Amino acid sequence: MSFIYHFGAGKAEGSAADKALLGGKGAGLAEMSRLGLPVPPGFTVTTEACQHYFKFGGEWPDNLEADIGHAVTQFETLTKKGFGSRQNPLLVSVRSGAPVSMPGMMDTILNLGLNDETVEAIATHTGHVRFAWDAYRRFVRMFGDVVFNISHNKFARAEDLIRQGRETDELDVDGLKALVSAYKKVIEDERLTFPSDPHEQLRLAINAVFQSFNTPRARYHRKAQGIPDDTGTAVNIQTMVFGNMDEQSATGVCFTRDPKSGQKIFFGEWLPNAQGEDVVAGTHTPLPLNTLSGGNAEDCLEHQMPEAYAQLNDLQLRLEEHYGDMQDIEFTIERGELFILQTRTGKRTPAAAIQIAVDMVNEGVITKEAALMRVEATSLELVMRPVIDPSAPKNCIAKGLDASPGAACGRVAFSSEAAQEMVEHGDPVILVRLETSPEDIQGMTVSEGILTAQGGQTSHAAVVARGMGKPCVVGCTDLLVDYGRGLFYTGSSVVKAGDYITINGTDGSVYEGKVPTLPPATSSESVQTFLKWADEFAVLKVRANADNASDAARARSLGAIGIGLCRTEHMFFQADALRAMRQMLLARDEHSRQRALQLILPIQREEFKHIFESMNGLPVTIRLLDPPLHEFLPKRPEDISALAQDLGLRDGALKERLGQLHEINPMMGHRGCRLGLTNPEIYATQVRAIFEAACQLTRDSDITVIPEVMIPLVANAPELERCRQTVVNMAEHIISQYNVSLDYKVGTMIEVPRAALKAGSIAQHADFFSFGTNDLTQLSYGFSRDDIGKFLPFYLAEGILPDNPLAQFDIDGVGELVEFGTSRGRHSNARLKVGVCGEHGGDPKGIAFFHNIGLDYVSCSPFRVPVARLAAAQAALTHSA
Ligand code: PEP
Ligand code: MG
Repeated sequence: MSFIYHFGAGKAEGSAADKALLGGKGAGLAEMSRLGLPVPPGFTVTTEACQHYFKFGGEWPDNLEADIGHAVTQFETLTKKGFGSRQNPLLVSVRSGAPVSMPGMMDTILNLGLNDETVEAIATHTGHVRFAWDAYRRFVRMFGDVVFNISHNKFARAEDLIRQGRETDELDVDGLKALVSAYKKVIEDERLTFPSDPHEQLRLAINAVFQSFNTPRARYHRKAQGIPDDTGTAVNIQTMVFGNMDEQSATGVCFTRDPKSGQKIFFGEWLPNAQGEDVVAGTHTPLPLNTLSGGNAEDCLEHQMPEAYAQLNDLQLRLEEHYGDMQDIEFTIERGELFILQTRTGKRTPAAAIQIAVDMVNEGVITKEAALMRVEATSLELVMRPVIDPSAPKNCIAKGLDASPGAACGRVAFSSEAAQEMVEHGDPVILVRLETSPEDIQGMTVSEGILTAQGGQTSHAAVVARGMGKPCVVGCTDLLVDYGRGLFYTGSSVVKAGDYITINGTDGSVYEGKVPTLPPATSSESVQTFLKWADEFAVLKVRANADNASDAARARSLGAIGIGLCRTEHMFFQADALRAMRQMLLARDEHSRQRALQLILPIQREEFKHIFESMNGLPVTIRLLDPPLHEFLPKRPEDISALAQDLGLRDGALKERLGQLHEINPMMGHRGCRLGLTNPEIYATQVRAIFEAACQLTRDSDITVIPEVMIPLVANAPELERCRQTVVNMAEHIISQYNVSLDYKVGTMIEVPRAALKAGSIAQHADFFSFGTNDLTQLSYGFSRDDIGKFLPFYLAEGILPDNPLAQFDIDGVGELVEFGTSRGRHSNARLKVGVCGEHGGDPKGIAFFHNIGLDYVSCSPFRVPVARLAAAQAALTHSA
């Protein structure tokens, strides 16, 4: 078994199909070599070697060392250079490359092969002394960092000492030599030795790359992204080419289409006389590749190196055509000669993903089905990102590059730790950094948005934020960040840690304070086209959960074909309505309850009318009251006093009544149909409000109303039978009073495990079932929805649970109840419609399951409707494949 695959000089042992074995980067290099692209020759150590390394406590497979020896000899023949040679030394890069890309997560070492002798040889051979020493000092530091895990700060301090007293930023050869010695001293101070033998350097570097797969940072990333943990990484060893050799050398990153907007323009950045890490690390602000990328004509590669640019342009077209998707390409120009170092499917904003998918269908490159499968369903929520309210007063204090679109507002945090602390206190955060590095991932994950003073569109901050779908502004050179004092200056103001700022990742603006944001007014034409295609393939219908007319209208504009859940208790958040609701809940007898209900009736009727108007012609499922009492009654003494005053009661009397209503377990208490059955006048009043609203609109307007009344928390058939009778009696009474014709349905939520088990008898009284998977999950697991946070982090960290079952549907357990309940229900009532209206109605994995077991619809929050539409299409495409 071989653990080594060669590539270069127009040939390769592997190909694009070997991603699991060679990692994404290795497979890409092999494929590019086969295509005859100018790829520096090299070889890939396979992921199997890495898996062996972990399995056997850091041991290499038996023949790996010998194979690497042969590969290096082959290299030497091919390049006519020698590893450690004092005449013409061979230098290599060593890079990680896992099967699933983890940008910025793992390690890279450049210029390996340098030592005190080879550095002189490189200087003599190339005639560039400064270049040779610059490469050497980079290598020693990188080696110390990656292989020996020595902190950046120690090297930075050593560098500061060398730079002190020197006039320019640009160190001369003596300065660079001093830096090499200083870095070696840093390593020695750690009681470690910088190895001068290139073979030993290579061995240690390969081990370090293997180990970088298992750092806490990489594991955290994989967990967050749902990437498997056992693949290991491949290691790519490749001959170095130098973008920093002279002014005819350069390095850059380009995309075959704009990764922000998805527009079909060749887009990228480059830096003359620099190495790739300078672009990616964001330590230098790069120049635009061409005028299409938005730069000054004179700064562009197109202008400064027209031949290399023309060749690059030609290659990017070939690469996109070959892979059939937008590519992210790294290149280096060494003394005018172009080399391609890497190509991979480019990360893009959600909006760009859709634009590219739609364009590629229109260009005839891919089918509609392939386009639908290419966009991650959850990313559609991000397309609906908020934007800055154009009419709001605002003070722009700085301007940077628009790295990832959308508006975000939060308190300034200068470190990952500070960001996490603020978020724990419930505050939104904008993470502000000079530039970001993988150490900042946790901080970026919890922040609303990211702002950096340095870096370009391909810097770590920009790429990662785009992947996370967070608003991000980079290269904001107006910012003077002072970590030590916890503040930043701009030309006009000083902003301290904890102050609010607002960033606009769509145009790069930074605003003082909180600027109001608006939901995106309309989604773009390509989003509409894309979602229309999704609806062509989807079988499962998508409704929305909406409790007021504006949410209903938004849901409709986002493509909901009805309201699947209108929680009537959510109509009582306004002061007047809340007061009436509390009066009703606190009433001691039917008479005072009726008085309170008379206040509630017109409030509900008006709200229902508005919702019916918004949903003209579409079904609206209204759930009768299901208030867990603790959510509506005051607890703190000052709130109790205020309510007593408001209701004209004595404090003591109110406290006594609250004591009577107190429940140990309100979620399992006097709520749902239990409340409706013990106090039938509550449901009767609500049904009156629904049908008076529906009948008035039917009689007085062209609006078509399709009401569906839903009974919550049913556990057995008699509960539903009785509630249904109350609904039908009142509905028929009102309909005949108004003398209109109105179709309606009465159904139930299935949210108690017993209801799923006894679905056969319950279905005899129901026109529809809607699985309330929030309660069904809570009650199946016996986990309190409100208290799960106390033990969930432990369960997740220990792998006792794969994820939060209240967010990601538990297909394995709760799924069985849904499947069983559906089949029992349909068996006894063939016309039964079945849907889901818990949070899981917007969870793509849940949606795939609901499709597979043949449900009719899901209902989710309005912003998730596009997610659910796409997930439903993807489920149908996958299921039929
Ligand atoms: C549910 O339990 O899934 C549901 C939709 O109801 P609620 O979240 O209001 O309890
Ligand atoms: Mg519920």
